[in-house]
Amino acid sequence: MTGGSGVRLVLVGPPGAGKGTQAQLLKERLGVEHVSSGDLFRHHLSNGTELGELARAYMDRGELVPDEITIGMVIDHVDQIADAAGFMLDGFPRNTTQAEALESALQQRGQRIDRVVHIQVADDELIRRLSNRYVCRSCQRPYSRDSVTGAPPARCVDCPDGGDIYQRDDDTEEAVANRLSVYQQETAPVLEFYRQRGLLADVPGERPIDAVHDSVLRVLGVADAGAVSRS
Ligand code: AMP
Repeated sequence: MTGGSGVRLVLVGPPGAGKGTQAQLLKERLGVEHVSSGDLFRHHLSNGTELGELARAYMDRGELVPDEITIGMVIDHVDQIADAAGFMLDGFPRNTTQAEALESALQQRGQRIDRVVHIQVADDELIRRLSNRYVCRSCQRPYSRDSVTGAPPARCVDCPDGGDIYQRDDDTEEAVANRLSVYQQETAPVLEFYRQRGLLADVPGERPIDAVHDSVLRVLGVADAGAVSRS
């Protein structure tokens, strides 16, 4: 696997593991499409669609949105991506029913997932990160509080109009606890699903962003992982 063409990846890890950050870096590096199921839901929410309204209560509680809603939304989106672009799924599949649905949808196209990257972070670190996490409302870039002022930045540095920075409703203490337990019960079996298929690669996530990125590139077999520049 040496380039972006047609590569199909899954990023798995608990909320706060850094999947979104790593996905953004991988997108820049490999040119694959980033498909985040959470972002798709938030897009529906902010556009006030029927699907968004159906998903809202589950999301606010930190529970999984039912498969009947989620699977169709993500598979439809994947279907729209040109074959040559390849894709990287982030936040999907989150249970084995979703993993099976993805596998059979890809099989129908004569395709399969090439690699599953599992970013590992311990619970106490996840809680610390999530309670300190802010995101840009337009591009979803993550931010944290300034270590000196204790405040998050007011505007996004990436968005031309300086997107609004906010804390997600599901990053409250109660919702975070729920999301971690949902992850253990429902998403952890997805790791076994992919391990049995020989696709799973574990990457320790409690390190600087660049170090995690290098490890991700290495497990993907990208040749010059050590020399990768983020500029
Ligand atoms: P995320 O941004 O990935 O943390 O997702 C935010 C919320 O969206 C989750 O807590 C769920 O309520 C919902 N969600 C995202 N992806 C899925 C999925 N694959 N299955 C069910 N619910 C999901």
